Amino acid sequence: MNTLKPAPRKLDSIQVGQLNCPIWVYDISLGKIHWANNAALSLWEAASLDELLDRDFNGGQSRAVQETLQGYLEKFKRGETVEVWWEISPQGHKKQILCLFSGIQLSDDRYAMLVEARHSPLLQNQQLNHQTVALTALFDKKSNLVSCNPPFIEQFGDQISRCRQLFREGIDLCSIVHAGELYEADILLVTKTGERWHHAEIRLQEDGLNDNSYYVMALVDVHERKLRELQHVKEALSDPLTGILNRRGLEQHLNAFNDEHYCIFYIDLDGFKLINDTYGHQVGDELLIGISEILRRDIHNNVICARLGGDEFLLAIPEELSIVDIQRIADNLIYKLSQAFVVSGERSISVSASIGTATYDKDNTELSVLLTRADSAMYLAKKQGRSRHVFYTDGMENHLRQRTIIIQDLEQGIIDGQLELYYQPINCVEENNVCIVEALLRWQHPVLGFISPLDIIAAAEETGKINIVEEWVIAQACSDFQQLKNHFGEQVKVSINISGAHISQQGFADKLKGIVVSYDCQPEEIIIELTETVLLPVIDTDQHCIEQIKAFGFLLAIDDFGTGFSSLAYLSRIPADYVKIDKAFVDQLDKDVHTVECIRSLCEKLGMKCITEGVETQHQSQILHSTQLHLQQGYWFYRPMPLAKLISK
Ligand code: C2E
Ligand code: CA
Ligand code: CA
Repeated sequence: MNTLKPAPRKLDSIQVGQLNCPIWVYDISLGKIHWANNAALSLWEAASLDELLDRDFNGGQSRAVQETLQGYLEKFKRGETVEVWWEISPQGHKKQILCLFSGIQLSDDRYAMLVEARHSPLLQNQQLNHQTVALTALFDKKSNLVSCNPPFIEQFGDQISRCRQLFREGIDLCSIVHAGELYEADILLVTKTGERWHHAEIRLQEDGLNDNSYYVMALVDVHERKLRELQHVKEALSDPLTGILNRRGLEQHLNAFNDEHYCIFYIDLDGFKLINDTYGHQVGDELLIGISEILRRDIHNNVICARLGGDEFLLAIPEELSIVDIQRIADNLIYKLSQAFVVSGERSISVSASIGTATYDKDNTELSVLLTRADSAMYLAKKQGRSRHVFYTDGMENHLRQRTIIIQDLEQGIIDGQLELYYQPINCVEENNVCIVEALLRWQHPVLGFISPLDIIAAAEETGKINIVEEWVIAQACSDFQQLKNHFGEQVKVSINISGAHISQQGFADKLKGIVVSYDCQPEEIIIELTETVLLPVIDTDQHCIEQIKAFGFLLAIDDFGTGFSSLAYLSRIPADYVKIDKAFVDQLDKDVHTVECIRSLCEKLGMKCITEGVETQHQSQILHSTQLHLQQGYWFYRPMPLAKLISK
């Protein structure tokens, strides 16, 4: 109840008939309306002024109301006014109206009550969908509050004069509500007790009483429900482990970038499965969390990052970046991600990452297209040797399509006998004979044609079929072994590549031995080739499988030596019989003989034999020979070839 300025007025001093808002004079002592303007007639739903003046209000009024009105009369005599929400029920229809009551002297000098209704029919019957408790308010076109109902004041306080006070960001209604349209949304509004969510329906409407338009706002407090909903949405759009977006969340974010430039970095960790298998899932999880933190904080100030599943992440930068910028960011990503992580308090592990990038292209705005492009570029980065970055260029998707087909057809391919082994001899230059033959996997796919063994292995690892593939390799190599010995002599051994995902499987060594024995081969004639990336985590934690392989009498070779992260110091911890020096060092021989010499002398001290890979020229072979590197493998001697072709030479 507000006490406003004194307003002693005489009835005939007001041109009440011309005013647009409902005005009437109520004779409190008689309980009758003394006079009313046209607007009041429609508010009171009266057929005519006479009919309204005829109505008797005393009968229907409670004592409390009558006493309140008497109290008002005293105020009016003192020149005070009263502004209050009043309920009337003409013809039984309840209406809440904001009224300004003031005193007015009748011609017989008695005091009556002048009522100026702030009521608008627009505020009537405000109901939201299925919800009846609505806070309603009326704003003029400049967003000034004209009127509101008591629940509205209850919620927002009595200091609201402009709509923008309801919004933290000071929004004006004209910016969100358009003529002829219903604005309907959940909005956060500043209430007396802090910010709360409301379901709002706002429309711009003509007032039935005059020609003005008003914003009619109807609100329902939906705070608790909305918070629950937001939490669900957040959960549905984010990755529970790392807290960054999931694929759906990413799609939602990126789809909002209509026509804006952005660049995406598709990131896949190299060798993550191995870390998981070797150190356990908890360490794997910690690593993923660490990676997500780096993506979130350390790469660029404006990023959206998501985990797409497993060890795949995506970083989006909503800016127009030059090729140079993208390259710089990708290099930084690779560098930052390859830094060692300390997990579980003490252990430090490191991973590398392969990255594919694609940029928004206005002719091809589909997000899914962009993701496929970045994914195929990433796939190529993996194929080109991992720990690197590849930009998408036209046609790269074919590689990805190929991968999908490979994954689909692999198992049937094995059953149908499409897999094959090629053999590449390793020569002993000193003794001029072949001392080892390496078995290399081949697949002649009926549609795709030749498939690289790296692609087969990657697909097999991804689908958990690596043991099926490599058990086939072991069995085939054993079965071919006698023919190899017949051709190259009894000294020859066969060398088999084994993937990290396979060797870390329970019971690998027993299975290996079982197959070898069933073909009447001796473990001492079989070399198991493991890359150093495979060996390091195994050596670090559980040497059991390596020890078992060695205990059965198998020989062990470190493959691709020098390409991983290991230092020479690691060599002493691996019970290897052979170290295969990677082709990269052989390629560099003209510039640097020193490194291979150094590796050789260290291996010699450790009782390991060195094999050099990728020897392509006589010149290389001679340099190696003079460096005491006698075991050589490469195109200069033999290309890998099918057994039949090899033994017919
Ligand atoms: P790797 O074990 O390092 O095998 C040597 C690769 O180098 C072979 O490629 C071979 O063809 C190639 N190579 C040999 N000499 C030369 C040379 O003088 N110049 C050049 N440029 N290349 C040469 P391939 O057969 O394509 O095999 C690629 C990789 O696939 C192998 O690398 C090995 O890591 C993997 N792989 C092959 N078969 C299997 C398998 O049964 N299991 C597993 N886990 N991996 C396999
Ligand atoms: Ca090998
Ligand atoms: Ca190799």
